[in-house]
Amino acid sequence: MAAVLEKEVIKGGGFLLAETLPAQVFSPEDFTDEQKMIAQTTHEFMDKEVVPQHEAIESKDYEVQRGLIKKAADLGLINASIPEGYGGLELDHVSNMLIAEHISGEASFSTGFGATSSIGLLPIVLFGTDEQKEKYLPKIGSADWISAYCLSESGSGSDALAAKSTARLSEDGNNWILNGEKMWITNGGFADVLTIFAKVDGDKFTGFIVERDDPGVSPGNEEHKLGQRGSSTTPILMQDAKIPRDRLLGEIGKGHQIAFNVLNFGRIKMGAGAVGGSKRVLALSAKYAAERHQFGRPIASFGAIKYKLAEMASKIYACESAVYRTAGMIEAKEETIDKKNPKELMKAIEEYAIECSIIKVAGSEILFYCADENVQIHGGNGFTEDYPAEGVYRDCRVNRIYEGTNEINRLLIPGQLLKRALKGGLPLIAAAMKLQDELLAGPSFDGDDDDSPLAKERKLAANAKKVALMLLGSSAQKFQEKLTEQQMILCWTADVIIETFLIDSTIARTAKLIARDGEEKHQAAIDATKLYSFDAVNRIEVAAKNALAAIAEGDELRTMLAALRRFTKQEPINTAALRERLADKVVEAGGYIF
Ligand SMILES: Cc1cc2nc3c(=O)[nH]c(=O)nc-3n(C[C@H](O)[C@H](O)[C@H](O)COP(=O)(O)OP(=O)(O)OC[C@H]3O[C@@H](n4cnc5c(N)ncnc54)[C@H](O)[C@@H]3O)c2cc1C
Repeated sequence: MAAVLEKEVIKGGGFLLAETLPAQVFSPEDFTDEQKMIAQTTHEFMDKEVVPQHEAIESKDYEVQRGLIKKAADLGLINASIPEGYGGLELDHVSNMLIAEHISGEASFSTGFGATSSIGLLPIVLFGTDEQKEKYLPKIGSADWISAYCLSESGSGSDALAAKSTARLSEDGNNWILNGEKMWITNGGFADVLTIFAKVDGDKFTGFIVERDDPGVSPGNEEHKLGQRGSSTTPILMQDAKIPRDRLLGEIGKGHQIAFNVLNFGRIKMGAGAVGGSKRVLALSAKYAAERHQFGRPIASFGAIKYKLAEMASKIYACESAVYRTAGMIEAKEETIDKKNPKELMKAIEEYAIECSIIKVAGSEILFYCADENVQIHGGNGFTEDYPAEGVYRDCRVNRIYEGTNEINRLLIPGQLLKRALKGGLPLIAAAMKLQDELLAGPSFDGDDDDSPLAKERKLAANAKKVALMLLGSSAQKFQEKLTEQQMILCWTADVIIETFLIDSTIARTAKLIARDGEEKHQAAIDATKLYSFDAVNRIEVAAKNALAAIAEGDELRTMLAALRRFTKQEPINTAALRERLADKVVEAGGYIF
């Protein structure tokens, strides 16, 4: 229902500073018919072509994998983010998220697909010269060539800029000579085109396009991994590798812009992929729970199992709401820029780096929660290779590690917010000071007389934003430039912000549904929203209490804790009844219900 959506450009991180109006929030209910078709095509491709090849993929049959990537390309799934001028489809951002969501179900394949269609390809889309784009993009888009992204090294993963790989111009000035070893490179065993980062003259971090057949370039041995055993993960060795001078990507010393902006895209796509993966896991759980009998009853009839199913469904609903809200925000921003200008495109995604990190952390942790409970629901069968539960559990663990570990992403969330506040880009400081005045003035009696649907939850979301502001403001004031050393406080603050964004997005989405069709039709969405919000606010309270006790003491702490109690106060709701209803619907539908 695009009619109810008001496209408005909202600043990245701005969700903390204003009430979110339902009509501003893009959600899955706004998908166009074309977008739904893209989702369906991708989903069917996975079910019909990829999932049946699970054994071959897991045994590292790279011919099969290349063949499947080629088939995906024939469907237009790889060139979706390539500009039209270079043989691409140049699809909108939401469509790209839908491809990322539905390319799930075979994690080894999805990871390789993601590397060639996203992080391997985007450096050239965003930073390549016309000649580079003409040479590489059509070939990658058609999957004649597979791409890879080579940032990490054995000694520099999170601290990527500490890379030791070097690049220097040859004496005749015609070639770059690269030396070093990249580590854990997805598609490393068979990629044809690699974006490699190395330091020019030992200190200027720079991107290069390297081809598989360039002299001195070779993949190392395949890693033996906990999960995603079918995806290719190798070192890439460069021993006096000689590449033509015109393969420099972007500018010398500006490689960090390439590396980090591409990761922002990777993070939101991973969130979408995690939503897709979680939905598939929930379907496995629901079906197994319905079929498995113990004590003469299906295990789905036990409250302990219903708890898990409802928890999975409400968490996925919340994450999905946040993912597509962000995709909509990026798209609204993209509509105000010259999309042909890669620099502007890059800025559009950079604007939402905070939301991308939130989604990466939330998506990977919700998927892992679902995979873990799926093993539990499967009992002994969940621990054996006869059922997919154990493989999914192993496969999804890495999501918390790559595309920036969840610790690094957590640190980035408050870090970026405060940086923008200090630069004047986001009026956080003014908002935190206003809140401080409000706290000093004592509790206000703004009444609880709004009995419209989700009114209580909307108030909770507004108060959660105040908790986030209180933590950001008080920690910045107390520790100033030394705040970066206070990682536990920053991580608790990130947890508060992550939960705040998820409840805010979920409430706005459901409120929009209610405004469109009335309450009755969306009872399950209302249940999921109330359930997620109730528990999220409890988690916010615990995280904030820990943080405040590390920030303040004495009267100051007592004042802030009193404010926290007020902001997180909620009447108990019968979450058992909500969970019963949700779980029964999930079992009846055999999976996700929204
Ligand atoms: C299957 C797989 C595929 C991959 N694919 C690619 C790829 O295609 N291209 C690529 O370039 N890389 C890839 N990687 C590498 C991946 O991005 C890195 O493993 C990741 O960035 C973490 O780096 P690290 O392993 O060196 O861990 P480290 O950086 O050593 O981190 C170890 C732990 O310390 C924590 N930590 C580190 N620094 C800090 C800090 N400042 N504050 C707080 N905590 C900190 C981390 O969060 C983590 O928990 C892949 C990895 C795997 C496992």
